[in-house]
Amino acid sequence: MIDIVLVGAAGRMGAAIAHAATEASGCRVAAGVDPIAAASGDTRWGQSLAAAYRKGMVVVDFSSPTGAVASAQFCAANGAPFVCGTTGLDAAAEAAVRDAGKSVAVFRASNFSIGVAALRQLLAAALAAVPRSWDVEIVERHHRLKKDAPSGTALTLADDALAARGLTREALRHGREGVVGARTAGEIGVHAVRGGTFVGDHQIVLAGNGESLEIRHVAEDRAAFAHGAVAAARFVAGAPAGVYGMSDLLK
Ligand code: NAD
Repeated sequence: MIDIVLVGAAGRMGAAIAHAATEASGCRVAAGVDPIAAASGDTRWGQSLAAAYRKGMVVVDFSSPTGAVASAQFCAANGAPFVCGTTGLDAAAEAAVRDAGKSVAVFRASNFSIGVAALRQLLAAALAAVPRSWDVEIVERHHRLKKDAPSGTALTLADDALAARGLTREALRHGREGVVGARTAGEIGVHAVRGGTFVGDHQIVLAGNGESLEIRHVAEDRAAFAHGAVAAARFVAGAPAGVYGMSDLLK
C-alpha cells in the first residue's frame, strides 16, 4: 500500500486527489497538510508536513509556490519521493523543486492530464507541418479563483513552441494593450482569460495567410489531473532519484 501525504489538502485539487485515490488500488491518502485551513479551525488537516510525514510516504503537493519549495526541501532532507503539481513558481522556486531530484524521485508536471500530454504532441506535429511564418498564439481560460497567470500549462505549451522555433521566453507577449504596432515575426502571444468555473482550457492558434488552425484541450473536471497525480505517486514510490515528468508516466 502506498501512503500519500497531501500538501494543500483542503484545496480544490486536494479534494480531487483524495477522491481519485479512493478509486485507485494499492494507494491511499494517509494524511493531509494544510496549515492555512488548519489555522482557520479545520481540524481535518495537519499544521505541518514534518508532523504528518511517516517514513515510506509519498509527498504530493498542490498548494502554493512557497508550499511547493518547502515540500521539496523537506522531501530532499527526509528521503521522501515527491510529486509536485503546484504552478506559478518563479525560476528560483522551480529550480529548488527540481534540485530535490538530486537526492529523491521528483515527479514534476504543470498538467497531469493525458489530454494535455496528447496536446503537446499535436502541437509539435502542427509546428512541424506549417511554415515557420505562421503565427502562434496561446489562449487559456481558468476559473475566477486561479492565482497565477498565465497557467503553468500555457507556459509549458509556450516553452514547447519556443523550443521548436529556437526562441527564448523573451519572445513571449503576455496580452497586448495600446498601440503595440504590428505583430513581430518571432513573437508568441499568451493570453489568460479568468472567470466562472473553467477547470482548464488551453487553445493554440496557428495563423497563416488566409487560413488558421486551432488545437484545444478542455478539462471539464479536476479528476482529469487527479488520476494522473495518483499515478505519478505510484510511479515515484521506489523510483531512483531524478526528475520525472508525464512522458515517463505515459511510456
Ligand atoms: P486551491 O487554492 O483550491 O488549494 C490550495 C490549497 O493549498 C489551499 O487549501 C491552501 O490553504 C493550501 N496552501 C497554501 N499555501 C500552503 C502551504 N504553504 N502549505 C500547505 N498548504 C498550503 O488551489 P487548487 O485549485 O487546488 O490548485 C493548487 C495548485 O495546483 C495551484 O498552483 C494550481 O495552479 C495547481 N494545479 C495544478 C494542476 C496540474 O495538473 N499540475 C492542475 C490543477 C491545479
